[in-house]
Amino acid sequence: MRTEHLTEEEVQQYALDAADSGSTQPPAPISGSTEATAHLESCAQCQARVADYRWLFAGIRQQPRPSFEGNLAAMVVAQLPPPKLRFSWSAFFVTLLIIDGAGGIAIGCYLFRADLAALFAGFSYAFGYLIAVAVTTVILFQSLDMYIKHQKKMRSLDF
Ligand SMILES: [Zn+2]
Repeated sequence: MRTEHLTEEEVQQYALDAADSGSTQPPAPISGSTEATAHLESCAQCQARVADYRWLFAGIRQQPRPSFEGNLAAMVVAQLPPPKLRFSWSAFFVTLLIIDGAGGIAIGCYLFRADLAALFAGFSYAFGYLIAVAVTTVILFQSLDMYIKHQKKMRSLDF
C-alpha cells in the first residue's frame, strides 16, 4: 500500500467517477491504480477530500446551465441599431450650397466686371485692406456658426 496521499487529480477523478455512477460508497478504482484505491479506503483525510470534491461537483451540476435557446444570431441582430443610410443629405445640401454660392459669386463678378474694375480702381490700399478684413471676419463667423448648428442637428439626429 502506498503511503503518500492521493494527488489532486486522483482525488478529483474519484469524485467525478462517484458522481457519474451515482453511488456513494465505495469509490470506483481509477483504471490501473489499485494502489491509490487501497490508500483511499484506509485514509480518512483523502476520503474527506474526495467527499469535498463530490459535494462541489454536485453543486456545479445543480447550477442551471446557461442556455441559448433559439437563434442566437437573430437575437443579437435584433438588438443592433438599424443600419444608417449611406447617403448623407446634409453633405449633399452643404455641397449644393457651396456650389450655388460659388456659382452666384462667379456669375456676379462676370456680369459686373466693368463696374467692379471701376469700383476697385478708386480704392486706396487701406480701404481695400479694411474691407478684406471685414469680409474675412464675417465669413469666418458665419462658417463657424453654420458648423456649430450643423453639429447640433447631427447630434439630435444621431442616436
Ligand atoms: Zn491519504
